[in-house]
Amino acid sequence: MRATSHASEEREAVSLASGDPDAFMPKTAEFAESRMVTEGSARVRKKRDDLIPLLEDLAFNLRWSWDPPTLDLFQRLAPDRWAKTHNPIVAMKAAANEPDRLAEHAESILERHGALEQYLNRPPHVKDLPRIAYFCAEFAITETLPIYSGGLGVLAGDHLKAASDLGLPLVAVGLLYRYGYFRQIIDDTGYQREAYDRLDTDAVALRPVLNAQGAPVIVEVPFPGRTVFARVWLAQVGRVPLYLLDTDLADNREDDRWITGHLYGGDQDTRIRQEIVLGIGGLRALRAVLPAEAQPEVLHMNEGHSAFLALEAARERMVSGQAANFDDALLQVAPHLAFTTHTPVAAGHDAFPSDLVEAYFSGYRQQLGLSHEEFMLYGRREPEAVWERFSMTVLALRSAARRNGVSQLHGAVSKDMWGDVGLSLRDAAPAAAMEAITNGVHTATWVGPEMGSLYDRALGREWRMSPDKPANWTGMLDVDRAALWTARTAQRARLLQRVDEMSRFEGLGGLHPDVTPENALVLGFARRFATYKRAGLVLTDPDRLVRLMDGGSRPLVIVFAGKAHPRDDPGKLLVQRIVQASRDPRFKGRLVFLENYDVEIARFLVQGSDVWMNTPRRPQEASGTSGMKATLNGSLHLSELDGWWDEAYAPGMGWALGERLPEDLVGEAHDAAEARQLMDLLEFDILPQFFDRDEHGVPQRWLDCVARSIEMMAPRFSAQRMVAEYAERFYRPAGKAAGH
Ligand SMILES: *Cc1c(COP(=O)(O)O)cnc(C)c1O
Repeated sequence: MRATSHASEEREAVSLASGDPDAFMPKTAEFAESRMVTEGSARVRKKRDDLIPLLEDLAFNLRWSWDPPTLDLFQRLAPDRWAKTHNPIVAMKAAANEPDRLAEHAESILERHGALEQYLNRPPHVKDLPRIAYFCAEFAITETLPIYSGGLGVLAGDHLKAASDLGLPLVAVGLLYRYGYFRQIIDDTGYQREAYDRLDTDAVALRPVLNAQGAPVIVEVPFPGRTVFARVWLAQVGRVPLYLLDTDLADNREDDRWITGHLYGGDQDTRIRQEIVLGIGGLRALRAVLPAEAQPEVLHMNEGHSAFLALEAARERMVSGQAANFDDALLQVAPHLAFTTHTPVAAGHDAFPSDLVEAYFSGYRQQLGLSHEEFMLYGRREPEAVWERFSMTVLALRSAARRNGVSQLHGAVSKDMWGDVGLSLRDAAPAAAMEAITNGVHTATWVGPEMGSLYDRALGREWRMSPDKPANWTGMLDVDRAALWTARTAQRARLLQRVDEMSRFEGLGGLHPDVTPENALVLGFARRFATYKRAGLVLTDPDRLVRLMDGGSRPLVIVFAGKAHPRDDPGKLLVQRIVQASRDPRFKGRLVFLENYDVEIARFLVQGSDVWMNTPRRPQEASGTSGMKATLNGSLHLSELDGWWDEAYAPGMGWALGERLPEDLVGEAHDAAEARQLMDLLEFDILPQFFDRDEHGVPQRWLDCVARSIEMMAPRFSAQRMVAEYAERFYRPAGKAAGH
């Protein structure tokens, strides 16, 4: 049933020429005609026809999102379209109408195409692994495919990219949201408003998966009294196929078409529908698109949203006669399942009331041979607690033999929270009750251009593909400090320019005239505006902050960004407080809020900041990854000893908040003490060290810390290290259990 790539390529070639967003039927005649009109000589036409398929291969493989030379090629092919969209699909379509420009770049196209082929055919780093399917409710691969909200999606996207680099036999499953998460708009009062843009599937690197007959693969998902149909799209991430389910089909009821409408925007009813489509529909999608010999042997649930897949995997065993009842079936599938939990905050764990569960599972549970009360037990921590809701985390724990948290500290916290939940209702002992696999970031995606070329020159090019090898980074200690400073300054300048433009655009007059790229310290803070992250901590003593910022020739600039969840009013008030501070004359031009935090804004921020700040209430930050991206770019980290920083911090490599505070401080008193500690660090440590310059204006001592911090952190907190750990600790043993 695998789609023939030929058929879908033909379709793309067709819609490319016709420009018809809904071109589903081949229009070959029209295509030929338009070519005749727009092109001069036969030679150019021939060349164009040869180049377009190569360009399509390049545009439709999201490998470009971490391959700067390919991005560069698309930029050169269509500079105007590129400047507006940063989208290779759009650039490709524009270039297709300009045969001369295509011909001019023919050599680069051939060269990049060769490089892509070579990448796709590299031997795997990690061998003899079982086939893995990775499920997640969101993926952030590029800002042009906006099917993510934040940290979880970025982590999942980075997981796929590293799995592709390492050559893991991994496929991924998610949902294609037509309206994604929201675009943040700040109104005149500083309050967050939400806007939703419809995804144009013709303008992104997505293709419908087709069956052998050339028709779209449609998955049937069981719903009460009806079937919900989902189409399957393919986003190719290097070597990793990402299958995305989409219920926006005319055959569905109107409200069912909206199941994949918004990400995290809906109520509990929408949420349970989405999770049924992701878990049950997702597994059925794999059954439909992959041949029998390519079916996954290991299923990884990244967060509990996909946990219904365990029900479907168990049901398959019952249907095929391998298991006599549901509990047996669940125990049979458990060794194949892995589960990663991502937050210790209770609101981050989905749980559904009993009547909602019955409304959606009254039919399906009968196929599992379960009464409603029996079914509920699989989602309840305490079987006797009839008031407990059905928790997706508990279902995942009862189903997966291997479970983990996402930093050492979070692993320990999660073990206390969940470690005693056994497998199935028999509470059988899991192979890994709750371990810790610390998150990492995909190096080549997040490193800025100037720092990247510095690394190429100073370290060789191996770090791009194998950033997890510490030996690839030891050269950092000897790196030329002036060159390091030049690269840092270039990246800081790009951020400041963006900040200046945005500030003028909003009528705020741009950056303060004292601020120049050479002389400003940029403190970055970007994350979801949940109150426990305490975005306002640095504003606790505004007078003192004004004094620090107004350093004359030693200015401090603070750049904030972040969205609050649409239903989180305290979070939105926090956004408002920061925005209002940015408009306060005392802070004007020195404290800035960048609207609409997304992957693009994140790149600017993590690449350009000198100090990256993180102020969660310990231990509520499971890991945090933005700080890893910033340190990779030569920022120093100033953070609460929480999440990844609890294991990464060492004196001389950034700063720790919350250290050596009296144990009995709690609540507001604790916040106040930490706020003081934060300001003390800024005033007495950070600013003096940053502005301690040699005769060429280079902060030698500061850069020593930067070099050490990169050398230490870049390999340890890379997604390659993380994925290799999942491979050896979870996937390989899970495969063995499956007889691999
Ligand atoms: C990296 C990233 C995050 C997650 O960062 P945290 O440190 O966990 O807050 C969220 N959103 C975007 C856009 C990111 O790039």
